[in-house]
Amino acid sequence: MSPCRIGIVGLGKIAEDQHVPVILKNPAFALAAVASQRGHGVTGVPTFRSHGEMFAAVPEMKAVAICTPPKVRHAIAREALAAGLDVMLEKPPAATLSELADLAAFAAERGRVLFTTWHSQYNPAVEWAADVLKGRTVRTLEVTWKEDVRRWHPGQDWIWRAGGFGVFDPGINALSIVTRILPAPVFVETATLVTPANADAPIAADLVFASAAPGAARLNAAFDWRQTGDQTWTIRIETAEGQELLLENGGARLLIDGMVTVDEPMAEYERIYEHFAALVEGRRSHVDDAPLRLVADSFLIGRRIETDAFHW
Ligand code: NAP
Repeated sequence: MSPCRIGIVGLGKIAEDQHVPVILKNPAFALAAVASQRGHGVTGVPTFRSHGEMFAAVPEMKAVAICTPPKVRHAIAREALAAGLDVMLEKPPAATLSELADLAAFAAERGRVLFTTWHSQYNPAVEWAADVLKGRTVRTLEVTWKEDVRRWHPGQDWIWRAGGFGVFDPGINALSIVTRILPAPVFVETATLVTPANADAPIAADLVFASAAPGAARLNAAFDWRQTGDQTWTIRIETAEGQELLLENGGARLLIDGMVTVDEPMAEYERIYEHFAALVEGRRSHVDDAPLRLVADSFLIGRRIETDAFHW
C-alpha cells in the first residue's frame, strides 16, 4: 500500500523532536509538506508560511498533524477537515471542550478521521498498569508532576496566556494516564490554582478528586513548574488489597510492590503514528476528551491564588 502523505502544521519543539523524525522512519507515512509561520523547514520537504497555502498547494496530502499551541488548533483543524484531510491533534486537542466536540462532529460529518493524541498513554507501563487495575478498587492516588518550566518550555510565552494551560500543559499528561488506567472515573472535587501576577494560567495546581467507585480514601494530584534540580513525574496508586503501583518517568517505568515490572525506552510517538496509520486504514476516529474535562473542571471550580510574577 502506498504511504499516507502527511503534512505538519507548526514546526516547534515537539514537531522537530518527535513528529518529523518519527514520520520519516515510518513507512506507512510520507512527509508531504510542512507549514511554518517562521519558515522553518525539513530538508527536501516543501515549506509553506501558512496551513491554508499548504492545503491548497499539495492536493496529494491526505492527513495532517497539528502541532501548534492549543488555542489555534480548532480553527486549523476545521480547515483541514474541510479540505478533506484526516487530522491528528497534538495534546491538548483543543483549548475548550466545545471546540473538541465540534471537531469530532465535523470529522464524522465529513467522513474524516480525527485522532486526539495523548502521548503519555502510549507507554507499555501505562497499559500494564491499566490491566493490573481492571476490576480493582483504588484506595489512594498520588500524582506528583513537578518540573522546571524554564528547562522544558523556554521562551514559550503562549503557555502563560489564557488558553495556554500553564502547568496543566504537562499536568494534562499525568491526567491522561489517570483517565487511562483508573478502573472508575474520578471527578475534580477541589482545585487550587496558583497563578503568577503577570500570567493568565497557573504555575502550580493542587487537585483533590472524588471517585465514582466506593472505597477511595485519598486521590490527589500536585503539579508545580517551580521545581529545579531533580524532576518528578510519578503516579502512585494503592489498591484496596494493599498492592502498590508506582509509575515513574512520566509513565515509562512501572514498579509493583517495589519490583520493577516494566521499564522500556520511550517510544510514545512511534506508537502514536502506528495507531494513526491503523485509524486511517480502518477509517475510524479516536477522540478522547477525558483528560481535557478534568482540566476544564479544575478551571471551573478552582480557587485562585496569586503568586509572584514570572520572568524567564
Ligand atoms: P512550541 O515549541 O512553541 O511550538 C509551537 C509551534 O506552533 C511554534 O513554534 C510555531 O511554529 C507554531 N505556532 C505558534 N503560534 C502559532 C499560531 N498562532 N498559529 C499557528 N502556528 C503557531 O510548542 P511545543 O512545545 O512544540 O508544543 C506544541 C504543542 O505540543 C502543545 O500543545 C504542547 O502541549 C504539545 N506537546 C509538547 C511537548 C514538548 O515536549 N514540548 C510534548 C508533547 C506535546 P511555526 O513558526 O513553525 O509555525
